[in-house]
Amino acid sequence: IVAITDQKGKIIHVNSNFCKISKYSKQELIGQDHRIINSSQHEKEYIRNLWVTIANGHIWKGELKNKAKDGSYYWVDTTIVPFLNDDGKPYQYIAIRSDITQRKKEESHLRLLESVITNTTDAVLITEAESSDEGGPRVIYANNAFTEMTGYTSEEIIGKTPRMLQGEKSDKQELDRLGVAMRQFEPCEITIIKYKKSGEEFWVNFSVSPVVDEQGNHTHFISIERD
Ligand code: FAD
Repeated sequence: IVAITDQKGKIIHVNSNFCKISKYSKQELIGQDHRIINSSQHEKEYIRNLWVTIANGHIWKGELKNKAKDGSYYWVDTTIVPFLNDDGKPYQYIAIRSDITQRKKEESHLRLLESVITNTTDAVLITEAESSDEGGPRVIYANNAFTEMTGYTSEEIIGKTPRMLQGEKSDKQELDRLGVAMRQFEPCEITIIKYKKSGEEFWVNFSVSPVVDEQGNHTHFISIERD
Protein backbone atom coordinates (compact mmCIF):
# COMPACT_ATOMS: atom_id res chain seq x y z
CA ILE A 1 0.00 0.00 0.00
CA VAL A 2 1.86 3.07 -1.25
CA ALA A 3 1.12 6.79 -1.42
CA ILE A 4 3.25 9.81 -2.24
CA THR A 5 2.36 13.32 -1.07
CA ASP A 6 3.81 16.79 -1.55
CA GLN A 7 5.34 18.59 1.46
CA LYS A 8 1.91 19.79 2.61
CA GLY A 9 0.50 16.27 2.62
CA LYS A 10 -1.46 16.50 -0.64
CA ILE A 11 -1.63 13.07 -2.27
CA ILE A 12 0.08 12.96 -5.69
CA HIS A 13 0.37 9.20 -6.21
CA VAL A 14 -1.41 6.10 -4.93
CA ASN A 15 -1.04 2.47 -5.96
CA SER A 16 -3.91 0.07 -6.60
CA ASN A 17 -3.56 -1.52 -3.15
CA PHE A 18 -4.28 1.86 -1.54
CA CYS A 19 -7.46 2.16 -3.66
CA LYS A 20 -8.45 -1.40 -2.79
CA ILE A 21 -8.08 -1.01 0.97
CA SER A 22 -9.51 2.55 1.20
CA LYS A 23 -12.27 1.82 -1.35
CA TYR A 24 -11.59 5.21 -2.97
CA SER A 25 -10.67 5.48 -6.65
CA LYS A 26 -7.34 6.98 -7.70
CA GLN A 27 -9.23 10.07 -8.96
CA GLU A 28 -10.89 10.53 -5.56
CA LEU A 29 -7.58 10.32 -3.70
CA ILE A 30 -5.25 12.39 -5.87
CA GLY A 31 -5.19 16.01 -4.70
CA GLN A 32 -6.65 15.14 -1.28
CA ASP A 33 -4.98 15.12 2.13
CA HIS A 34 -4.83 11.78 3.98
CA ARG A 35 -7.46 13.40 6.17
CA ILE A 36 -9.91 11.77 3.73
CA ILE A 37 -9.19 8.42 5.41
CA ASN A 38 -8.73 9.85 8.93
CA SER A 39 -10.68 7.76 11.43
CA SER A 40 -10.64 10.38 14.24
CA GLN A 41 -9.40 7.58 16.49
CA HIS A 42 -5.91 8.93 17.16
CA GLU A 43 -4.90 11.61 19.65
CA LYS A 44 -3.99 14.97 18.03
CA GLU A 45 -0.58 14.51 19.65
CA TYR A 46 -0.01 11.26 17.71
CA ILE A 47 -0.63 13.00 14.36
CA ARG A 48 1.38 16.03 15.50
CA ASN A 49 4.32 13.74 16.30
CA LEU A 50 3.99 12.17 12.83
CA TRP A 51 4.21 15.61 11.21
CA VAL A 52 7.02 16.92 13.44
CA THR A 53 9.06 13.77 12.70
CA ILE A 54 8.69 13.84 8.91
CA ALA A 55 8.84 17.65 8.58
CA ASN A 56 12.23 17.47 10.34
CA GLY A 57 13.42 15.02 7.72
CA HIS A 58 13.11 11.85 9.81
CA ILE A 59 11.35 8.59 9.08
CA TRP A 60 8.09 8.02 11.01
CA LYS A 61 6.92 4.52 11.80
CA GLY A 62 3.64 3.74 13.48
CA GLU A 63 0.25 2.11 13.32
CA LEU A 64 -2.72 4.05 11.97
CA LYS A 65 -6.40 3.24 12.07
CA ASN A 66 -8.01 4.57 8.91
CA LYS A 67 -11.57 4.85 7.65
CA ALA A 68 -12.45 3.54 4.18
CA LYS A 69 -15.00 5.20 1.89
CA ASP A 70 -17.74 2.77 3.00
CA GLY A 71 -17.19 3.73 6.67
CA SER A 72 -15.33 0.52 7.59
CA TYR A 73 -12.08 0.78 9.53
CA TYR A 74 -8.72 -0.74 8.70
CA TRP A 75 -5.32 -0.68 10.41
CA VAL A 76 -2.03 -0.11 8.63
CA ASP A 77 1.52 -0.48 9.81
CA THR A 78 3.01 2.66 8.30
CA THR A 79 6.45 3.99 7.40
CA ILE A 80 6.63 7.54 6.08
CA VAL A 81 9.91 8.51 4.45
CA PRO A 82 10.64 12.15 3.56
CA PHE A 83 12.42 13.02 0.29
CA LEU A 84 14.79 15.87 1.06
CA ASN A 85 15.92 18.66 -1.29
CA ASP A 86 19.45 20.06 -1.40
CA ASP A 87 18.68 22.24 1.63
CA GLY A 88 17.71 19.15 3.60
CA LYS A 89 14.00 20.16 3.56
CA PRO A 90 11.32 17.61 2.67
CA TYR A 91 9.65 18.19 -0.68
CA GLN A 92 7.71 14.91 -0.82
CA TYR A 93 6.73 12.08 1.46
CA ILE A 94 6.26 8.42 0.62
CA ALA A 95 4.03 6.31 2.83
CA ILE A 96 4.52 2.55 2.68
CA ARG A 97 1.93 0.57 4.59
CA SER A 98 0.82 -2.98 5.23
CA ASP A 99 -2.61 -4.12 6.29
CA ILE A 100 -2.59 -5.23 9.95
CA THR A 101 -6.38 -5.20 10.46
CA GLN A 102 -6.52 -8.92 11.14
CA ARG A 103 -3.67 -8.77 13.69
CA LYS A 104 -5.38 -5.84 15.45
CA LYS A 105 -8.64 -7.82 15.60
CA GLU A 106 -6.79 -10.78 17.07
CA GLU A 107 -5.03 -8.55 19.61
CA SER A 108 -8.30 -7.02 20.77
CA HIS A 109 -9.88 -10.49 20.94
CA LEU A 110 -6.93 -11.66 23.06
CA ARG A 111 -7.25 -8.61 25.34
CA LEU A 112 -10.93 -9.47 25.78
CA LEU A 113 -10.12 -13.07 26.72
CA GLU A 114 -7.34 -11.89 29.03
CA SER A 115 -9.76 -9.61 30.84
CA VAL A 116 -12.07 -12.59 31.40
CA ILE A 117 -9.22 -14.54 33.04
CA THR A 118 -8.08 -11.51 35.04
CA ASN A 119 -11.55 -10.66 36.32
CA THR A 120 -13.11 -14.06 36.91
CA THR A 121 -13.66 -15.05 40.53
CA ASP A 122 -12.41 -18.58 39.73
CA ALA A 123 -8.71 -19.06 40.40
CA VAL A 124 -6.78 -19.73 37.20
CA LEU A 125 -3.31 -21.23 37.02
CA ILE A 126 -1.39 -21.90 33.81
CA THR A 127 1.63 -24.18 33.74
CA GLU A 128 4.03 -25.42 31.09
CA ALA A 129 3.18 -28.86 29.73
CA GLU A 130 6.58 -30.36 30.57
CA SER A 131 7.50 -31.46 34.04
CA SER A 132 10.40 -29.66 35.71
CA ASP A 133 13.17 -31.20 37.83
CA GLU A 134 10.99 -30.45 40.84
CA GLY A 135 8.56 -33.12 39.60
CA GLY A 136 5.77 -31.03 38.17
CA PRO A 137 5.16 -28.48 35.44
CA ARG A 138 6.19 -24.93 36.27
CA VAL A 139 3.62 -22.18 36.72
CA ILE A 140 3.76 -19.40 34.14
CA TYR A 141 0.61 -17.47 35.14
CA ALA A 142 -1.68 -17.07 38.14
CA ASN A 143 -4.67 -14.73 38.09
CA ASN A 144 -5.78 -12.38 40.89
CA ALA A 145 -8.36 -14.84 42.19
CA PHE A 146 -5.58 -17.43 42.58
CA THR A 147 -3.29 -15.12 44.54
CA GLU A 148 -6.22 -14.02 46.71
CA MET A 149 -7.25 -17.63 47.36
CA THR A 150 -3.75 -18.83 48.30
CA GLY A 151 -2.11 -15.71 49.79
CA TYR A 152 0.91 -16.09 47.49
CA THR A 153 1.84 -13.27 45.11
CA SER A 154 2.16 -14.26 41.46
CA GLU A 155 5.94 -13.64 41.75
CA GLU A 156 6.06 -16.27 44.50
CA ILE A 157 4.19 -18.81 42.37
CA ILE A 158 5.59 -18.27 38.88
CA GLY A 159 8.44 -20.64 38.10
CA LYS A 160 7.41 -23.01 40.92
CA THR A 161 5.26 -26.13 40.61
CA PRO A 162 1.69 -26.27 41.95
CA ARG A 163 3.00 -28.90 44.41
CA MET A 164 4.03 -26.03 46.67
CA LEU A 165 0.35 -25.84 47.70
CA GLN A 166 0.12 -29.51 48.63
CA GLY A 167 0.80 -31.00 52.03
CA GLU A 168 0.26 -33.79 54.47
CA LYS A 169 -3.53 -33.91 54.14
CA SER A 170 -3.63 -33.58 50.33
CA ASP A 171 -5.26 -36.83 49.15
CA LYS A 172 -2.46 -38.87 47.50
CA GLN A 173 -4.87 -41.10 45.55
CA GLU A 174 -6.61 -38.11 44.02
CA LEU A 175 -3.22 -36.55 43.19
CA ASP A 176 -2.06 -39.82 41.57
CA ARG A 177 -5.25 -39.86 39.49
CA LEU A 178 -4.45 -36.29 38.38
CA GLY A 179 -0.82 -37.25 37.62
CA VAL A 180 -1.89 -40.16 35.40
CA ALA A 181 -4.38 -37.94 33.52
CA MET A 182 -1.77 -35.22 33.02
CA ARG A 183 0.84 -37.65 31.70
CA GLN A 184 -1.75 -38.78 29.14
CA PHE A 185 -2.80 -35.19 28.46
CA GLU A 186 -6.35 -35.94 29.53
CA PRO A 187 -8.52 -33.42 31.38
CA CYS A 188 -9.11 -34.25 35.04
CA GLU A 189 -11.10 -32.83 37.96
CA ILE A 190 -10.23 -33.49 41.61
CA THR A 191 -11.07 -32.14 45.07
CA ILE A 192 -8.32 -32.08 47.69
CA ILE A 193 -7.01 -30.14 50.67
CA LYS A 194 -4.38 -27.56 49.79
CA TYR A 195 -2.40 -25.16 51.94
CA LYS A 196 -2.33 -21.37 51.79
CA LYS A 197 0.90 -19.41 52.28
CA SER A 198 -0.18 -18.90 55.89
CA GLY A 199 -0.33 -22.68 56.34
CA GLU A 200 -4.13 -22.64 56.59
CA GLU A 201 -5.81 -25.68 54.98
CA PHE A 202 -8.62 -25.28 52.50
CA TRP A 203 -10.64 -27.58 50.28
CA VAL A 204 -10.27 -26.88 46.61
CA ASN A 205 -12.00 -28.34 43.59
CA PHE A 206 -10.00 -27.95 40.41
CA SER A 207 -10.09 -29.10 36.83
CA VAL A 208 -6.90 -29.35 34.82
CA SER A 209 -7.05 -29.28 31.01
CA PRO A 210 -4.23 -29.62 28.49
CA VAL A 211 -3.70 -26.90 25.87
CA VAL A 212 -2.73 -27.91 22.34
CA ASP A 213 -1.09 -25.63 19.74
CA GLU A 214 -1.82 -25.55 15.98
CA GLN A 215 0.64 -28.41 15.34
CA GLY A 216 -1.08 -30.59 17.92
CA ASN A 217 1.74 -30.25 20.50
CA HIS A 218 0.77 -30.06 24.16
CA THR A 219 2.08 -26.71 25.33
CA HIS A 220 0.40 -25.93 28.67
CA PHE A 221 -2.05 -27.00 31.32
CA ILE A 222 -4.80 -24.73 32.57
CA SER A 223 -6.18 -25.30 36.03
CA ILE A 224 -9.43 -23.67 37.12
CA GLU A 225 -9.85 -23.84 40.87
CA ARG A 226 -12.59 -23.12 43.41
CA ASP A 227 -12.26 -22.85 47.17
P1 FAD B 1 -5.07 17.63 13.03
O1 FAD B 1 -5.92 18.10 14.15
O2 FAD B 1 -5.36 18.17 11.65
O3 FAD B 1 -3.54 17.87 13.34
C1 FAD B 1 -2.91 17.44 14.52
C2 FAD B 1 -1.57 18.14 14.56
O4 FAD B 1 -0.75 17.65 13.47
C3 FAD B 1 -1.67 19.64 14.34
O5 FAD B 1 -1.74 20.31 15.55
C4 FAD B 1 -0.41 19.96 13.60
O6 FAD B 1 0.61 20.22 14.57
C5 FAD B 1 -0.03 18.72 12.86
N1 FAD B 1 -0.36 18.83 11.42
C6 FAD B 1 -1.52 18.47 10.82
N2 FAD B 1 -1.44 18.67 9.50
C7 FAD B 1 -0.22 19.17 9.26
C8 FAD B 1 0.46 19.59 8.07
N3 FAD B 1 -0.13 19.53 6.87
N4 FAD B 1 1.73 20.06 8.20
C9 FAD B 1 2.33 20.11 9.40
N5 FAD B 1 1.74 19.74 10.56
C10 FAD B 1 0.49 19.29 10.49
N6 FAD B 1 -3.35 10.52 8.55
C11 FAD B 1 -4.18 9.51 8.79
O7 FAD B 1 -5.14 9.65 9.53
N7 FAD B 1 -3.97 8.28 8.22
C12 FAD B 1 -2.96 8.04 7.37
O8 FAD B 1 -2.80 6.92 6.89
C13 FAD B 1 -2.06 9.10 7.09
N8 FAD B 1 -1.03 8.94 6.26
C14 FAD B 1 -0.23 9.99 5.95
C15 FAD B 1 0.79 9.81 5.02
C16 FAD B 1 1.62 10.85 4.69
C17 FAD B 1 2.71 10.63 3.67
C18 FAD B 1 1.44 12.13 5.29
C19 FAD B 1 2.34 13.24 4.92
C20 FAD B 1 0.42 12.32 6.21
C21 FAD B 1 -0.42 11.26 6.56
N9 FAD B 1 -1.46 11.43 7.47
C22 FAD B 1 -2.30 10.35 7.74
C23 FAD B 1 -1.70 12.69 8.17
C24 FAD B 1 -2.77 13.49 7.47
O9 FAD B 1 -2.19 14.24 6.44
C25 FAD B 1 -3.49 14.48 8.43
O10 FAD B 1 -2.55 15.35 8.99
C26 FAD B 1 -4.22 13.79 9.55
O11 FAD B 1 -5.07 12.77 9.04
C27 FAD B 1 -5.04 14.81 10.31
O12 FAD B 1 -5.41 14.22 11.53
P2 FAD B 1 -6.15 15.06 12.68
O13 FAD B 1 -7.35 15.72 12.09
O14 FAD B 1 -6.32 14.17 13.83
O15 FAD B 1 -5.05 16.06 13.03
